[in-house]
Amino acid sequence: MKNNKINDFGTTISFFKEEVNKFVDDRNWNIYHTPKNLVQAINCEAGELSQLLLFKDYTVKEIWNNDQLLKKISEEIADVFIYLISLINTLDLDLSEIFIKKMEKNKKKYSSKEFNNGTYYKK
Ligand SMILES: [Mg+2]
Repeated sequence: MKNNKINDFGTTISFFKEEVNKFVDDRNWNIYHTPKNLVQAINCEAGELSQLLLFKDYTVKEIWNNDQLLKKISEEIADVFIYLISLINTLDLDLSEIFIKKMEKNKKKYSSKEFNNGTYYKK
């Protein structure tokens, strides 16, 4: 994998799915990548991400000015994403399809007309 040329503008979801699938297959880790284990792994990695910000109130600018923290946050985001992709692979889901369906549901549930004044929760 030549990651120096990869960015969000030219990378497909299929690429991520194939990369994770190959990584798991090459190590015979399919037996460990059960839905339960993957959901728990996502939670563990999300916990590692959360721990980096626990009891801290960094602004975005402060994070961007802290190369070491930004690197750690980026790595934990990648860990969460990798396990999420593996869960999608294990359940043979189409991310684009489920994303669009859920976004449509969210748009109806949280209409821009109702929430365009900065409120987050329904009163
Ligand atoms: Mg991690």
